Amino acid sequence: MLKQTHLLIDGVMTAASGEQELPVTDSFTEDVFARYRSASDDDVHRAVAAARAARIGWSATPLAERIAAVRRVAAALSEKAEALTTAISREVGMPRKLAARIQVGAPIAAWNSYADLAAEMVWESRIGHSLVQHVPVGVVACITPWNYPLHQITGKVAPALLAGCTVVLKPSEIAPTSAALLAEAIQQAGLPPGVFNVIYGTGPDIGEMLVSHPGIDMVSFTGSTRAGSHIAAIAGSQIKRMALELGGKSAALVLPGAELPTAVKATLASCMLNSGQTCSSMTRLLVQRDMLPEVERLVRDLIDTYRMGDPADAATRLGPLVSADQREKVQAMIDNAVAAGARSVGDNPPVPDHGFFIPATVLSDITPAMTIAMEEVFGPVLCIMCYDDIEDGIALANGTEYGLAGAVWGPVKPDTLAVARRIRAGQVDINGAPFNPAAPFGGFGKSGIGRENGCHGIQEFLEPVAIQLPTPFTESLSEYIS
Ligand code: NAD
Repeated sequence: MLKQTHLLIDGVMTAASGEQELPVTDSFTEDVFARYRSASDDDVHRAVAAARAARIGWSATPLAERIAAVRRVAAALSEKAEALTTAISREVGMPRKLAARIQVGAPIAAWNSYADLAAEMVWESRIGHSLVQHVPVGVVACITPWNYPLHQITGKVAPALLAGCTVVLKPSEIAPTSAALLAEAIQQAGLPPGVFNVIYGTGPDIGEMLVSHPGIDMVSFTGSTRAGSHIAAIAGSQIKRMALELGGKSAALVLPGAELPTAVKATLASCMLNSGQTCSSMTRLLVQRDMLPEVERLVRDLIDTYRMGDPADAATRLGPLVSADQREKVQAMIDNAVAAGARSVGDNPPVPDHGFFIPATVLSDITPAMTIAMEEVFGPVLCIMCYDDIEDGIALANGTEYGLAGAVWGPVKPDTLAVARRIRAGQVDINGAPFNPAAPFGGFGKSGIGRENGCHGIQEFLEPVAIQLPTPFTESLSEYIS
């Protein structure tokens, strides 16, 4: 049993003084395999004070040095790739082979690509007689979820550090191990004390205290819309800058003339990735009514390939859900949908005798009036909905309170692009185009505020400042001005 009793505060691994022990459960064996000691109120104050004290020095550190430090973190994380994969695969339940690539390899690569982008970004420019600088926001509280723990942490901490901000991270209490390993990597990389601090604890106590702490300048949060709305109310009342990456209910809209087998296969794969616990999953498949029999036939052929089992087994395609609570919540949503008239496509295979499993589930006959058509499930459940004409299809795609991602499948014609342009979501893929980590990612509506990834992700942590220059300055100090 791993016992994590230390927090990283002011560059030192410090014994946590909270009273709570946070159990971390293996989602396949159902055993508790680690216990994390929670921070106390005093630990929160010390972590914020350390980040505040470090912020002037770190923001004045030349960009080239901040970039070099971030690259050293990436190198130190690479040495821990095996341990990260094992921990995340156990915490979250993602099949290990996939976790090595998506949960660990991709975020480590992202540390380096953020560093590349920071080197290319324009940090100072001229607008007439104004010098516009982009300066760090200050001390950032990063609060992250459990579903892609290292990826979510990376999407905040790497750009914040490059921007010149200092950080207090509170990772998910359900999947905290990547934060603990990152703390070690940051120490190995030799970042100055206080630039990065990590504390553990649950959301309503330690998370909320961090959000409302007067020493925090910005809150960068990823998680549920429910918690995000609560956090936004606190941060808003204090006029704190905030970035919110929240839930989704993304739709794949299949247009006439699309390659139906590819569209169905890819949508199912998107929906089932990480057992449906992906905020940007395509969880609604929108098809023209006369396509439905063929779509259901394709689903029946594919659904059995989502073999459940031990995430460590290379043959496993669908791991367990993260927790018993999550399984119950997802099962209740399926049961309610069926009671409201949804029809399950394909057989329900038996689940392994331990682990928090729900089989890959595809529900048809879904109407907009059903809860499952509107609310995030966060489980391996795809909803098929029918539309009559394309206007109707676009209205269905845009017809939820969310707007995180979307997909359009159709012929290579301007019409397909025109439909994609009308989807109200932060990222829209056409015909299965791959994820681009340098492109902005984030949501409309209840999917959040702000963007992560690429240069947009770094800009979230910067404030523009305009210095107005009188003519004698522009004439005689030109070598100091961009
Ligand atoms: P969650 O909201 O329960 O928790 C997320 C984090 O917030 C955790 O660290 C938690 O401790 C903390 N927290 C909870 N309540 C808080 C409060 N009152 N004050 C401060 N902190 C609080 O979410 P989760 O269950 O960990 O993650 C799943 C959710 O995250 C899903 O809704 C999913 O769509 C969303 N998500 C969104 C994105 C995105 O980029 N848009 C990415 C991943 C996950």
